[in-house]
Amino acid sequence: MAAYLAHMVVVLDTTRPRHPEKAHRPDAPAPPKPAWIRVKAPVSKGYADTARIMRDNGLHTVCEEAGCPNIGECWEKKHATFLIMGDVCTRACAFCNVKTGLPAALDPQEPAHVAEATAKLGLAHIVVTSVDRDDLADGGGAHFAAVIRAIRERCPTTTIEVLTPDFLRKPGALEVVVAAKPDVFNHNLETVPSLYLTVRPGARYFHSIRLLQRVKEIDPSMFTKSGIMVGLGEERNEVLQVMDDLRSADVDFLTIGQYLQPTRKHHAVERFVEPQEFEGLARIAYAKGFLMVASSPLTRSSHHAGEDFAKLRAARAAKYR
Ligand code: SF4
Repeated sequence: MAAYLAHMVVVLDTTRPRHPEKAHRPDAPAPPKPAWIRVKAPVSKGYADTARIMRDNGLHTVCEEAGCPNIGECWEKKHATFLIMGDVCTRACAFCNVKTGLPAALDPQEPAHVAEATAKLGLAHIVVTSVDRDDLADGGGAHFAAVIRAIRERCPTTTIEVLTPDFLRKPGALEVVVAAKPDVFNHNLETVPSLYLTVRPGARYFHSIRLLQRVKEIDPSMFTKSGIMVGLGEERNEVLQVMDDLRSADVDFLTIGQYLQPTRKHHAVERFVEPQEFEGLARIAYAKGFLMVASSPLTRSSHHAGEDFAKLRAARAAKYR
C-alpha cells in the first residue's frame, strides 16, 4: 500500500496539465465530427522516417504540438512544419494546443539543426513557425532570421516559408525577419476581430493586419499569406470583412480551415462548416483579388504549402505577363 501511495505521489508530482491556464474554464463538449473531417491514421513508413529526423535533431513540429489532423498525410510525404524557439508559448490562445508557460532559453544550435533536418527531408519548400516569445527583447526575430539563413546556406534551392508571431511591442523584429528574405511571409489572423478577446486575447487584430501590410511595404516582391479558422462563432459578413482587410494590406494568399477543438477546455466548436460553404468562400476571396486561396475543412496554413507555393508563383507570373 505504501509503495502504491508513493507511486501515486510521484505520478501526481510529475504530471503537469498541458494547459494549467485553461483548467478553470468550463468544459466545452465537442460536437461529433462530420464525415468530411475524417483523416488518415499516422502509420506509414514515411511518417516514421519524418518522426526520426525530427527526434535525431532535437526539433519540435507544430504538426505534433498543435495536434494537426493532417499529420498522417503530411508526414508520409515528409512534409513537416518546424516549430522553433521551443515548445512552450508565452500566449494562451483559446484555440491552441501548444503549451503555455515561461519558455527555456533559445538554443543557438537550433538554426543548424533545422537546416540539417531540412536537407534530410529533401523538400523543395519548407515551412518554419514558432511559439510566441514575448519574453525575448526582440520576440525571437533575430533567431527566425538565423534559421532562414542557415537553411539557405545548407539547402540553397529550397524555398522558405515563415509563419511568424505578431511581434507585438517588439519594434524592429519584423524588419529583421524580412531582411533575411524568406520566400513567403505568413502571419495568421486566426479569426475575425470580434472574437479576438476570447480567442486570441494577447493579440490585436489591426496590429496583425498592419504587420502583413508592412512586409509588402518593405519588400513588395515577397509573397504574403494569412489564414483564419471558421466554426468559432464568427458571422459570414465578418469573414468577408477580414478578406477585405487582408486585401487592403495587399496579402496574396488566404487560407481558411475548420477550427477543431484540441481539448474540452479549449474554445467550443460552434459549428462544422460544410465543404460547399468553404468552396463559396474561396470563390468570393478570388473575386476580391487574392492570388491564391485554399479553403476546405482540413486546410491549415502549411497544408500542401509546397504545391501551393508553386501555384502562387504561377498566379503572379500570369497576372503580370
Ligand atoms: S498541415 Fe501543416 S501542421 Fe498539419 S501536419 Fe501538415 S505540415 Fe504539419
